[in-house]
Amino acid sequence: MRKKWGEKMKKAVPHLTCLVLTFAVCALIYFEGGEMFSGQTKVAYSYDLNRYQNKKTIETQVASRAQTSEKLQKQRPSLLSYTVKAGDTLWGIANKYNVSIETLTKLNHLKNANTLQIGQKLSILTADGIIHPVSRGESLWSISRTYNTSIEDIIWANNLKQPDTLQIGQKLIIPGIHTAKVTAKAAVNTSTTRLSFIWPLRSIISSYYGPRWGRFHSGIDIAASKGTDIKAAADGTVEAAGWLGNYGYMVLLNHGAGIKTRYAHTSKLLVKKGQKVKQGEVIAEVGNTGRSTGPHLHFEVIVNGRTRNPLSYLP
Ligand SMILES: [Zn+2]
Repeated sequence: MRKKWGEKMKKAVPHLTCLVLTFAVCALIYFEGGEMFSGQTKVAYSYDLNRYQNKKTIETQVASRAQTSEKLQKQRPSLLSYTVKAGDTLWGIANKYNVSIETLTKLNHLKNANTLQIGQKLSILTADGIIHPVSRGESLWSISRTYNTSIEDIIWANNLKQPDTLQIGQKLIIPGIHTAKVTAKAAVNTSTTRLSFIWPLRSIISSYYGPRWGRFHSGIDIAASKGTDIKAAADGTVEAAGWLGNYGYMVLLNHGAGIKTRYAHTSKLLVKKGQKVKQGEVIAEVGNTGRSTGPHLHFEVIVNGRTRNPLSYLP
């Protein structure tokens, strides 16, 4: 009996070893997932969440479109060229085309409404709205967010046959908005789409973007001592400020036009979610929180939900 038991145990040993090994490997994968392993999942997650939210917003926009486009349905706006004749006034022209003075003055960059010259060429948008030249990296989605209008209305106003293929420099009519109201937003948009970053802090780069130890490093590591100021790389809004797994205490800034930056492993957060920050503003302090081996800043640039090499964006 005892012998049999011993034999049974002998037979079981390989199985047991196998079990223990499997468990060990699982544990290793779980705990040693690494910065990028979890970083990428999170990026993918937030990307999916974004897409979900986008989809939801688009759905709501489609629903609310009925009301918005009822106004627009009458006539699709178009961009005309008008030559100023003797006796023309800005008010008269605006009235003739049923557009606002603001739309006319902004569209033609008129500083003074009284300085019309005979023979002067004016651009006239036959509805209230503005012209938006498409910049690199912009999508209908990001443009619609900038002007707080719907994708559907932009597609309709521009009679876009292939809305997914925007050309850089393409002039889009953004209908149904008064220029005066959006000027500030449009200005913000221009500055963010032609985004120029500054270094969040200047120090030695201890790790570059790209494959690292069989994984993928989603940002650059800038070595600095604990407490060093971390500055916002560009103007933006704080999308998140708090603890996020391997990132430790991190700040995620949204710069608009699908561009975000992340500052991880910080020791101290100096901003709150929803807060607007200016380029160069101190948003956090260098630390060693999360999955980090010594104080450093892990800096990420995320474009349309994917990380990019920050060095391509930094001066
Ligand atoms: Zn890193």
